[in-house]
Amino acid sequence: MELPFIQDPNTSRQLPEQVLPCSTASYDTGRIIRDDYIHPTYRTIATAAMHQWQNAEPWCRTYRRSGLVLVEDSDNNGPLKETYNLTRRELESNGASSLVEELYCRDDIKKACGGLCDTGNWGYLTHKAGWVDAGDIMNTLLKDLKQSENIHFECGRVKSLVKDETGDVVVGILLESGQRLVADLVVLATGPWTSALADTRGKTVSAGEAVAYVQLQPEDGEIFRKMPAFLNFEQKICLTPPSRQLFRIALHRDDWVNTSNIDHPEVGRTDISIPPERGLGPNPSQRVSHERQLRGALQRISPLLASRPIVHFGYCWYDDTLTGDFIVSYHPDYQGSLFMLHGLGGHGFKFLPVLGQYAVATVLEELDPRVKNMWKYPEDVDHDRLRRDHGQGGWR
Ligand SMILES: Cc1cc2nc3c(=O)[nH]c(=O)nc-3n(C[C@H](O)[C@H](O)[C@H](O)COP(=O)(O)OP(=O)(O)OC[C@H]3O[C@@H](n4cnc5c(N)ncnc54)[C@H](O)[C@@H]3O)c2cc1C
Repeated sequence: MELPFIQDPNTSRQLPEQVLPCSTASYDTGRIIRDDYIHPTYRTIATAAMHQWQNAEPWCRTYRRSGLVLVEDSDNNGPLKETYNLTRRELESNGASSLVEELYCRDDIKKACGGLCDTGNWGYLTHKAGWVDAGDIMNTLLKDLKQSENIHFECGRVKSLVKDETGDVVVGILLESGQRLVADLVVLATGPWTSALADTRGKTVSAGEAVAYVQLQPEDGEIFRKMPAFLNFEQKICLTPPSRQLFRIALHRDDWVNTSNIDHPEVGRTDISIPPERGLGPNPSQRVSHERQLRGALQRISPLLASRPIVHFGYCWYDDTLTGDFIVSYHPDYQGSLFMLHGLGGHGFKFLPVLGQYAVATVLEELDPRVKNMWKYPEDVDHDRLRRDHGQGGWR
């Protein structure tokens, strides 16, 4: 399929790629797939990605077109209204206006949510959108990639980049096992842990969103049968229908930024933003407050949920730039030897079916300059500002 903003795509090229089976943002349960961005470029690319989720193998194996309800507590003419107006105009001009429904009051919202979700006063339902079980599709991809004769997997934790004697060219990676792997081009796609390998201070921060997983009983299935994915932007409630007998709910963008003091392979001992060691979280009062918010949200979604045990409460980590724009670019300090796929923030998963092709198009210099510029390696930003204002473009 031809993708927007890429010249002369040749999708038959074999790409060197590495996928490690780990428990991270990409191995979680539900991820919302939507294309109703305000920003025209993200909108176009998200539509291309959604086309893949809905129609192409292997993506369509896990995609569920459940619809998505987006709400807020007031009809305040803010970004959600703009998103709705854009979506409605676009669908009307394509003769598909029935794919979006305005929800004028809480009763409309409850009805659109199959009787659940007693929250929000205005919003809309888009029938185009849906969700995927992220862990499911990653495992499917991994299985498919393992079949390929052109891809060789070396599994292990990367300790550092390896450079030539000038220090200006990355020539490979060093694994914690001591093994060195040599490469013409190293691609870092290590999510919020990237900052532990390359110095990304002032570019990105690692932010954790509180999540809770509720254990459902087999008889609960019917209650959630007609449930769409759901986002209340003001209450910060984000959820997808249950999968694997688990109901997952997150505090959308109510994240906290972690900074750790580490012995960094590039810059020595320094404070850098990466996820904390396993088990460490925010201060206890913040954690208690997040748990309370999640329990309150569960009660509003369905009193039944509030009565079921929370089997896991924790934080899911993403890496955010100030603007919320991704980094799909060479690292400028290493003469074209290090490529970064980083800063995917809280909205990157939906682009999975197409993002690799945009990365390849960058390498082959086939990418439209507008996208190249949008996803370039960003300028330095003061850490406090980055900590406070990161991911501003999440609305786009
Ligand atoms: C709570 C939450 C909700 C979200 N909801 C949505 C949504 O609804 N829709 C959407 O589109 N997006 C959503 N996102 C965003 C999306 O999940 C992320 O943008 C995406 O998964 C990031 O993928 P990634 O591969 O860059 O990073 P990750 O998924 O974090 O993967 C990084 C990988 O690198 C590995 N790694 C790290 N360091 C090393 C090392 N030193 N050596 C070897 N391997 C290493 C890790 O083990 C991991 O496998 C959400 C994110 C969160 C946290």
